[in-house]
Amino acid sequence: MALLDSFILVKVEELIISSYSGYFPSLHLLINTMKQGTKFIHAGVEPDPSTGAIMTPIYQTSTYVQEAPGQHKGYEYARSQNPTRTVLEKAFAEIENGKHGLAFSSGVAATDAVVKLLKPGDEVIAINDMYGGTYRLFSKIFEKYGITFHYVSMENADNIRHLINNNTKLVWTETPTNPLMNVCDIAALAAICKEHNLLLCVDNTFATPYLQNPLDLGADIVMHSVTKYLGGHSDVIQGCLVMNDDTLREQLYFIQKSCGAVPGPMDCFLVLRGIKTLHVRMQRHCENGEKIAHYLKGHPKVGKVYWCGFEDHPNYEIAKKQMRGFGGMMSFTLKDDNIDTAKKLLSSTKLFALAESLGGVESLINHPSSMTHASIPREERIKNGLVDSLIRLSVGIEDVEDLIEDLEQAIG
Ligand SMILES: *Cc1c(COP(=O)(O)O)cnc(C)c1O
Repeated sequence: MALLDSFILVKVEELIISSYSGYFPSLHLLINTMKQGTKFIHAGVEPDPSTGAIMTPIYQTSTYVQEAPGQHKGYEYARSQNPTRTVLEKAFAEIENGKHGLAFSSGVAATDAVVKLLKPGDEVIAINDMYGGTYRLFSKIFEKYGITFHYVSMENADNIRHLINNNTKLVWTETPTNPLMNVCDIAALAAICKEHNLLLCVDNTFATPYLQNPLDLGADIVMHSVTKYLGGHSDVIQGCLVMNDDTLREQLYFIQKSCGAVPGPMDCFLVLRGIKTLHVRMQRHCENGEKIAHYLKGHPKVGKVYWCGFEDHPNYEIAKKQMRGFGGMMSFTLKDDNIDTAKKLLSSTKLFALAESLGGVESLINHPSSMTHASIPREERIKNGLVDSLIRLSVGIEDVEDLIEDLEQAIG
């Protein structure tokens, strides 16, 4: 009887799957020929096989019933696999033009997994102007385990050459950087890494796949703080990795399930929803970003404006070559380079909310030296241009006139 039941179950499921795949015969075969916006909407998602639900359900479960020991549908325990996560991981891969995606419970958990590919004695070359939390993870956690990190400016890719030795295994970069919007040439770095058999990992959080695809430029791994633009609504913490190499995927999947920093199904659902509007949001982030960058540049009280869309930006040519637009992230200093003047400005905006994070629909203002980058020692910070009056903006998708009016009253 039990045998018969399971036989019927399988048959019915096959029927349902074949009927739905009948409506969408080869969506995922088509994915590589789709234009970007179409891809962001359809990436990973197929009608749910059991009901036809157009949106992937939240499979809120910790385990899966097996018919006999070891006999299951590919799902055993939710730290290892969850159907909502499976769909999202497929979506991550598709939006980054990669073969495999892996989701993590935060951006730093994704970074942590990459460094766990290494062993004591290995060396990493990392960009010197990076997200403060990445620097903290490298210097405060992994150095203790005998991994050595060298920090260097990568605006000229050749800068990494003199740091390469037999122990070097990984090059870690971020472009554009946080918060100084430096840009490095991913293809040039990838060429050097290939020459020396090093892994190149690019933190693509600021650019998003809408503006830049590091794997297409030769990188081995793309990392995102999904918390930011991919989620896009300031309501979830998550990270991801995307790669092409099958062995690398197996190693990173092993780390993901062994170390356990996996996101829950609800968070996966929120990100699946977020990705569907990435191109529409990014288009507006870019338009608003451009207008605000020019507004700030013309303001008599503003010192330097860091935004990679300016023609006089030191890496403008590379940015134009490897990115499809310049985004809504920027930083600026005040002519009166004074911490109190900066702090007064930071607490007088009304629309720009004073908060860490970035990439959501609402505009945020942030003070890197006391907030996101407080974990970097002051001398190190100043040396890299992160002065006390530096203010970072994550320009949201509100009406730009309202945003400019808000900055106008705050800067005074
Ligand atoms: C936020 C951020 C991270 C860390 O991601 P979490 O999701 O906060 O763990 C890494 N890199 C960049 C560029 C970020 O902005």
